[in-house]
Amino acid sequence: MNIHDSEKIAGMLKSLNYEETETKEEADIIVFNTCCIRESAEQKIMAKIGDIKALKKIKKDLIVVVCGCMTQQKNMKENLKKKFPFINIIIGTHNIEELRNYILSLSAKKKTILDVWDKEKEIREDIKPYRTSKFNAWVNIMYGCNNFCTYCIVPYVRGRERSRQVCDIVEEVKTLVESGNYKTITLLGQNVNSYGLDFHDGKTNFVYLLNELCKIKGDFKIKFMTSHPKDFSPELIDFIASNDKMSKSIHLPVQSGSNEILKRMNRRYTVEKYKSLVDQIYKKIPGATLTTDMIVGFPGESDDDFKKTCDLIEYCKYIGVFGFVYSKRKGTPAEKFENQVPINVKRERITKLFEIQHRISNEILQSMINKKVEVLIEDESELYFIAKTDSGKTVRINKDKDHKLGDICSVVIKKILSKQLVGEIV
Ligand code: SF4
Repeated sequence: MNIHDSEKIAGMLKSLNYEETETKEEADIIVFNTCCIRESAEQKIMAKIGDIKALKKIKKDLIVVVCGCMTQQKNMKENLKKKFPFINIIIGTHNIEELRNYILSLSAKKKTILDVWDKEKEIREDIKPYRTSKFNAWVNIMYGCNNFCTYCIVPYVRGRERSRQVCDIVEEVKTLVESGNYKTITLLGQNVNSYGLDFHDGKTNFVYLLNELCKIKGDFKIKFMTSHPKDFSPELIDFIASNDKMSKSIHLPVQSGSNEILKRMNRRYTVEKYKSLVDQIYKKIPGATLTTDMIVGFPGESDDDFKKTCDLIEYCKYIGVFGFVYSKRKGTPAEKFENQVPINVKRERITKLFEIQHRISNEILQSMINKKVEVLIEDESELYFIAKTDSGKTVRINKDKDHKLGDICSVVIKKILSKQLVGEIV
């Protein structure tokens, strides 16, 4: 989400004739688009803002902006202002679109603009993002989250779910595809598979949106993130299975393999339900690959709970796992939970989790040898193209004059070299 917010901010700055600089010393404006999902991210950003103090003393006209979900936390804007009085603009996630106007009014006012809205507002469609990613375009389809997982700050700082209109999303994707620059469109939302439910029209949902997007002519794939297992419908599985434009690589965050922990996390599904969903995906979607998020050391997680997490990883055969050590997040219910797990235990568990996943990922890579896969050529060196499979695995292929960056082609995987797939174009 933050990547795309940053692209919107860059779009606003471009419209004010700002250009990217190589170093912060050359900049006339520095924007910190913050994230508060993890406390460590917040500490890092605080240190980075502090680093600007000396520069601001020399460069008095430098404009410093702090925005993003960190500012939405209780008392944060006041704390930031007190700690870093040199900040010129502090705004939140709900009024990020106002940044352009704030910058314009700043020189006239010459004092700090501190404006963080508590409430979500209407989605604005008039901000043109400045896209920085090659071949992949991020497209927000909704904002906010209604789920209140007990470890997560998002619903408190990004508000309730609000979906963009189908016509606006279709128009944006159509323009991106027609530009010829993008081969992958990644739809973004905290829980994309509850898209459209806030319209209460009995018609609009995530599959309806996907169906409209897949009607757009062109050679492109649709990915999405993130989906919540409790809302992953059989209709969605069937749609992905039956439509060539849909990527078969699915990110399905599970967070734990223990029902007791899932309950404490307020995830609202059981391990049995999740496994049955995974079974359906593998059965109905040929070539499907799965990735997940896993939290270890959640309060109350016993050795037995962790063993269940390891068992689930073995069962699901993920191609990749994003593993995180639980850390207290201020303002969330889990912050006050008893039985916090000692840090040395958390470290041991995450190491074990990565060992298991490393072995499984290797087995999956080995099983790809001599198989034909479709890849997108994303980069090149003097001798090789660097391509990505649908599931995001890197494949090195010999360069030839018939292919170029941005091409989608079929390769046969020949071997694995230094953990990288090596393929030949066929
Ligand atoms: S669904 Fe995702 S964004 Fe929403 S509360 Fe849970 S973890 Fe946070």
